[in-house]
Amino acid sequence: MSATPYSFFQSVERSFDKAAIFTNWDAGILEQIKQCNSVYQMRFPIKREDGTIETIESYRVQHSHHKTPCKGGIRFSLAVNQDEVMALAALMTYKCAIVNVPFGGGKGGIKIDPRKYTAYELEKITRRYTAELIKKNFIGPGTDVPAPDYGTGAREMAWILDTYSAMHPGEIDAAGCVTGKPVSQGGVRGRTEATGLGVFYGLREVCNMEKVMKRLGLPLGVAGKRVCVQGLGNVGYHSALFFHHAGSKIVGLAEYEGAIYNMDGLDLDAVVAHRKATGSILNFPGATNFEKSGEALEMDCDILIPAALENVIDGENAPRIKAKIIGEGANGPLTPDADEILARKGTLVVPDMYLNAGGVTVSYFEWLKNLSHVRYGRMEKRFTENMNQHIMGQMEELSGKKMRAEEREFIMHGADEVDLVRSGLEETMITATREIMEIWDNNPNIPDMRTAAYVCAINKVATSYAELGIFP
Ligand code: NAD
Repeated sequence: MSATPYSFFQSVERSFDKAAIFTNWDAGILEQIKQCNSVYQMRFPIKREDGTIETIESYRVQHSHHKTPCKGGIRFSLAVNQDEVMALAALMTYKCAIVNVPFGGGKGGIKIDPRKYTAYELEKITRRYTAELIKKNFIGPGTDVPAPDYGTGAREMAWILDTYSAMHPGEIDAAGCVTGKPVSQGGVRGRTEATGLGVFYGLREVCNMEKVMKRLGLPLGVAGKRVCVQGLGNVGYHSALFFHHAGSKIVGLAEYEGAIYNMDGLDLDAVVAHRKATGSILNFPGATNFEKSGEALEMDCDILIPAALENVIDGENAPRIKAKIIGEGANGPLTPDADEILARKGTLVVPDMYLNAGGVTVSYFEWLKNLSHVRYGRMEKRFTENMNQHIMGQMEELSGKKMRAEEREFIMHGADEVDLVRSGLEETMITATREIMEIWDNNPNIPDMRTAAYVCAINKVATSYAELGIFP
């Protein structure tokens, strides 16, 4: 990996500046957008189960208030520091703007290794952190809404909700203070697979663009495309799964212990079962082994989806990448050096900032569900089914033909919560892809899709600031 002379936040600022020259906004507005509006550093003590007292370092950053609430995950990691949380909060502002989620960017972090604490201690840390946020008005359905991130999940979100509710008795919208909750606590169906499904919808839209496929020398559509995925976790597994369902060939899969390749396609669920049984992805029947996991990135394929870690493609291996399209499932899998090399090679890099926005998009749907206090589909599902049944009966009577059972079932079906969530996500990803591509098409000097995505975000945030004016 190539070392970079810039901090993470400075790299985000550099990408912003690279895109800002393709906009017409006043320098003052651009500066206001770039800065983090509020940075809150907290230190608080916890008493561990063995009686020792430890001081915990933690952060919450609200990057932009052009729309409220602010939104962004909370990570538990020893690598947490103020610069990282600021950078991630800024990226959330731009990500939300691109996918038209009406939130400002936020992010939180607690500097701990969660594996070193018992569940009881983690609960105490999470609850105390939430209490610190409450004290300074850094959490609430209308102010700032955290979500899971690295090292946290639905369990921690339920503790946050409970702490917030305990300190705001009777607040009717309290469930909207955090997203990524268990479904039984106001979470939404479809959140688990949302990021991988969003990656699929975004890339499918790109593959349906005639001009883009012609430039890359690839046929239209995702069916038959050869896909290679790094990381079989939440994002990687679900991305691969939806490509598989759409008729693509999953030719390569990589985990930290190695990688496997089969040009005729791998059976994804059989690979997952094999890994569960043997503890390794390697030695899957019919596949070629690669002991060095990183080699998977250089395999022959049409679409490469790095969905594990950051900085996996750098100046050293970028020249050897054969994929024509790279879909960034992970956050920051390419270094700036790799970006430049791949742009020169004509590889299309579909950027993380919007491609992995499925999670925050569905979090927005969860927040809307919490404010409306009703499950999606509850009011209209039966009504739709009754209406469809009536229409089908009329059609059969008029045509004198009976529909096949599976057709009848498909047409009859009224939307469940997961159907509506997926439909909303599909619409969001298609619209965002088209908006970014249009910006790129209209300005041939924009060097890559990432810069076009930043231009898209800057224009939306700046329009908000310009329309709202400056208080007082
Ligand atoms: P995860 O922990 O579920 O999965 C990561 C997978 O990568 C694991 O299976 C791990 O074993 C594997 N891995 C680790 N090192 C590897 C290596 N060297 N080579 C190959 N595989 C390796 O995490 P996730 O939630 O899928 O997140 C993955 C990436 O996507 C992260 O960058 C995350 O920030 C980003 N992301 C996740 C979401 C989400 O909703 N989960 C949303 C946006 C972005």
